[in-house]
Amino acid sequence: MRFSRLYAPTTKEAPKDALLASHIYLSRAGFISQVASGLYNYLPLGKRVLKKIEAVINEEMANIYAQEVELSFVTPIEFWEESGRVNKFGKELLRFKDRKDNGFVLGPTHEEMMVNIVRGRVTSYKQLPLNLYQIKTKFRDEARPRFGLMRAREFVMKDGYSFHASYEDMDREFDLMEATYKRILERLGLEFRIVEADSGAIGGSGSKELMVLADSGEDTIAVCDTCEYGANVEAAVRAEPRCDAPAPALAYEKIHTPELKSINDLSTFFKADSYYIVKTVAKRLIFEEDSKIVLYFLRGSDELQEVKAVNAVNALEIADVSDEELRELGLVPGFMGPMGLENITLVFDASLKGAKSMICGANEKDFHYVGVDMETEQLEFSDLVQVQEGDGCARCAGKLSYTKGIEVGHIFKLGTTYSKPLGATFLDENGKSQEMVMGTYGMGVSRLIAAVIEQHNDEKGCIWTETTAPYRFNILISNIKDEEQLAYAEELYAELSARGVEVIIDDRKERFGFKMNDAELIGFPYTIIVGKNLAEGIVQIAPRSNSEKIEVKKDELLARLMELK
Ligand code: ATP
Ligand code: MG
Repeated sequence: MRFSRLYAPTTKEAPKDALLASHIYLSRAGFISQVASGLYNYLPLGKRVLKKIEAVINEEMANIYAQEVELSFVTPIEFWEESGRVNKFGKELLRFKDRKDNGFVLGPTHEEMMVNIVRGRVTSYKQLPLNLYQIKTKFRDEARPRFGLMRAREFVMKDGYSFHASYEDMDREFDLMEATYKRILERLGLEFRIVEADSGAIGGSGSKELMVLADSGEDTIAVCDTCEYGANVEAAVRAEPRCDAPAPALAYEKIHTPELKSINDLSTFFKADSYYIVKTVAKRLIFEEDSKIVLYFLRGSDELQEVKAVNAVNALEIADVSDEELRELGLVPGFMGPMGLENITLVFDASLKGAKSMICGANEKDFHYVGVDMETEQLEFSDLVQVQEGDGCARCAGKLSYTKGIEVGHIFKLGTTYSKPLGATFLDENGKSQEMVMGTYGMGVSRLIAAVIEQHNDEKGCIWTETTAPYRFNILISNIKDEEQLAYAEELYAELSARGVEVIIDDRKERFGFKMNDAELIGFPYTIIVGKNLAEGIVQIAPRSNSEKIEVKKDELLARLMELK
């Protein structure tokens, strides 16, 4: 490619709303351009990077016999009604009607469509397993599109789906997909961690996320300092904490506690560790049709994890409630507890199971109960706790700490969640009809572009990894009017091109500094500077990843460049 022909409109200005390095640099360096909120065009450089990532994915998929398909982006809404997901997906699902009044959605993910492809066609266990995938535009009307390609409304996803005759076979494929996704991210030159993820309402243990480690990541993950354990905080568990302080030796009694509303106040007043005080958290939980207030009870030393709170009652979303709303229900903010409440859903954290000598609100202004034992039989327990840094690992003696990640992939053991409602069955070896067991494997292809830059950038711009760079070598002619420089650079360009190396020649009639700024902003791994020193037979290689230029004799250059490969 010739820079003089390249459409890469570089600018000094970043988009006004751009906060992340990837958003700033991908825009400034002319990889992408924004159309509207969450909608982006890929300009030539951006499209090249996208294709490079896709190529790595395609190669790795082919290795495990996953086959590429391409499903219609416009999807009949009936499929979504059949699976029961129309409401669940909420407003992210863009619905519309055609001229004949038929309902459609723009595909945000394709489980239903993929099941529809195989149902009725795959009828025997002999046709299984099957792994089908596509790399395709998705649309989700995200509530807050932001951070450029990171959270767009239209984005590119690799979505794969596998079909099996048994759970064992699904487990095998799941492990294979995990290993394959790992290899893809390694090849892309990313530092990442595979963590346990929230499996949402579907439940089960079979959900993992691939997190690219970056401070700007939207996800918080808890990782063990000793073993391999890592989990999204939405799903992270910890070793059951112990409290060395003794339980308060108080018999069951209602006690006057004027104005003592906080866990701290109560702890001081009763000389009891917050571990022995019941914390009540009221939230509004939103369901498909309605919403209601739920009270969650935890130990005073713990915090509520909202995704766990949502899952505990099978809700769709969670929201805060005002003191007003609580009072309308007859509750007393600051003095709420589990005792004597009717017609309100109560959920207890699992660590309260069998707890004794606890202190809790009496649902009466200025009163608390002490010496309360948790009646294990009648109460509903669920893990509700957000793990904290310093908590013990559930798997080993290590400690947990937080780190930030960008979710670039999510693999999920679906079981029969979709095959059942959509009726995807096959005949097993005994001629018996069975539902197909499925796995689903998503990878955010366009988000990966942003993730590479979040992990690899500096104050000058992008630093592409070997496999993701739009061009590997950039030949920069310092002075285009110098015939010797021009001739040598052109010869080198022809030679590298002939060898199939991805190379661009900066043959623009611009100053050296201007061209170098562009090279650094765009982030080619190596810029070969053909400048004044050529007269003495010297050329420079400027690797983008460090500031040390390498001087090379021109006769040795080609060999050096090929070594870099
Ligand atoms: P998130 O929690 O970030 O919203 P998700 O759980 O909705 O992600 P999945 O439904 O599992 O995501 O989609 C698979 C992959 O698609 C994600 O791992 C992510 O890499 C990518 N992805 C999801 N939403 C977006 C988006 N709005 N923009 C870009 N990529 C996305
Ligand atoms: Mg999402």
